[in-house]
Amino acid sequence: MILALLASVLLTAGCTRGRDDSPLHLLLITLDTARADRFSYAGASPVETPAVDSLAAEGTAFLQAVSPVPVTLPAHASILTGLLPPAHGVRNNGTYRLTESAVTLAERLTAGGYRTGAFVGASVLDSRYGLDQGFEVYDDDMPGKPGAEFEAQRGAEAVVGRALAWLDGVGEEPSFAWVHLFDPHMPYDPPEPERSRYPGAPYDGEIAYADRMIGRLLDGYRDRGLYGRTLVVFTADHGEALGEHGELTHGVFLFEPTVRVPMVMRAPGQSGGQRVVEQVRLIDLVPTVLDLLELGPAEGVDGRSLVPLLRGDDLEPVPAYLETRLPLENHGWFELRGLRTPETKLITGPTTELYDLASDPGETTDLAARRAGTVGQMLRDLEVRAATAQAGSEGAGERVEMDEATRRQLTALGYVSSGASTEPSADGLGPYEERRIRLTFMLRNRGFRTLALERCGEILPAAAGDRCLDRLAERLPEAVAEAAPRRGGNAVLGGSPEELLAVAEVAAGRGDLETLRGALTELTGCLDATARGSTPSPPALRRAARLSQIGTGCFERLQYDDALHAFLLGERLVPDEAVFPYNLGLAWERLGDVGEALRAFSRTLELAPGFARAEEHRRYMEAVRRRLGPAGGP
Ligand SMILES: [Zn+2]
Repeated sequence: MILALLASVLLTAGCTRGRDDSPLHLLLITLDTARADRFSYAGASPVETPAVDSLAAEGTAFLQAVSPVPVTLPAHASILTGLLPPAHGVRNNGTYRLTESAVTLAERLTAGGYRTGAFVGASVLDSRYGLDQGFEVYDDDMPGKPGAEFEAQRGAEAVVGRALAWLDGVGEEPSFAWVHLFDPHMPYDPPEPERSRYPGAPYDGEIAYADRMIGRLLDGYRDRGLYGRTLVVFTADHGEALGEHGELTHGVFLFEPTVRVPMVMRAPGQSGGQRVVEQVRLIDLVPTVLDLLELGPAEGVDGRSLVPLLRGDDLEPVPAYLETRLPLENHGWFELRGLRTPETKLITGPTTELYDLASDPGETTDLAARRAGTVGQMLRDLEVRAATAQAGSEGAGERVEMDEATRRQLTALGYVSSGASTEPSADGLGPYEERRIRLTFMLRNRGFRTLALERCGEILPAAAGDRCLDRLAERLPEAVAEAAPRRGGNAVLGGSPEELLAVAEVAAGRGDLETLRGALTELTGCLDATARGSTPSPPALRRAARLSQIGTGCFERLQYDDALHAFLLGERLVPDEAVFPYNLGLAWERLGDVGEALRAFSRTLELAPGFARAEEHRRYMEAVRRRLGPAGGP
């Protein structure tokens, strides 16, 4: 159904050409991590997005667009190939490369006589992952600057500037520019004036900032006299959970906040203001764009052209395939797949869930047990769709070994958990429940305390019988900390390392430094060091991951001494892991101990040669030492 039927769309062959009948330019804007409900064209939104709204006013807004995978690299591989992840084979960030046999939009447009340039905002889309195929310019240059911990990205202003500079060199030739803006991704740190305009909502501020930069980009096209001959496509690779369903960011679950994306298309000569409410998919973009540019039909893609919808015609509804392997590959948890229709969503992994999206858009009530027939039917449909996509693929994505520098960068972006374990838990908790509990505490650590406690109340009774409750308490630092008897203001500890870690986690979160320091001190006495060159045990890895979180939390709260304490303990457990010496170096740097910082960064580089950020910090510390003289730091 088209809401704005009065929009008499002129999107028939011949009408998408410029006045002088030259081919249209194509501008594809992908805004990373953008929730569909953060754009005012789509309805009530907490963010004002005048630039994207203006595109929607001049073009067509798709109000129900779905990403096949809420993970940056695989989602962009789908946007650029029109293939589902099982077909293009890129299933996660950092560990896959799009094969040469895949045909990208840039390759198709190059063949059609286009000049092509890509301008990406984060190293997660580095050319080494294969999305550069067909682009004559692939600008993935990520500058780092000392002091910034999340440097594997660059801001929208820089990306837009590069794109416009490239456009100047292209001149009148038909051009395809892909502009990827990463700003709404964690960490949320909008510049002014958006920071002040969205107090307490930095994610919204990032969306507003990105929209301002999109406005600048569109103005750049106008200033160059190109806007009237440019097909503009705006969308996102995935959304952001912002704490919904126990998820903080994206990639772990397949719930609506992360799989729904904004999508707007604006073609010259089109009557604007059209609203399409049918479900469409990111894989439909390639065939649609080729259709509009008269370079179609696209052969060998999983998506289909949406031009009939743009014309106001009907299109047979098709379900959207969903998947995520990030929880399995990064955390050792599980893989999820799903199938979404406008009315119903199936999610299947360790458990199978069914949600009625029409009556329960928040996906709060799992109907799988009550609607076994629908579940069976959708599971079969899902299998067929996955198998068809896989069978049609020329060659699966290649696994690429993650080098240490990449791992560090992805860790900085929050993608990789250090010390992930794949061993089954000893207390009978399945990985599904376990990750929910872990995520719940991640939420709490990020300040979503009330929400986290609520989630625990939901998860615990469902996850475990009475038999498990004792063991569960160990996983629930809140409960353990409450239960720890106190003596003279100090926790009476002497418990297992897990209990001590729990006490430390809770105390760090509450800012109870006395208890935190007591727990860290007791841990010092009961954690067995791992010898350099030998493989840490799974418990050592898990404990190190928790110490890393405790230390990082202290660091963020500027408690550098406590951060050092936690990082030093973690280093004892996993002495060959570069993350601890790196974090120690940063803490020593903040404390002004140049000598210790230098030693830590040198050790980091021994373990992770080519880790660019460590190298920069080491050089920076050396420069400081030269200025201070041989005596070193204060
Ligand atoms: Zn992304």
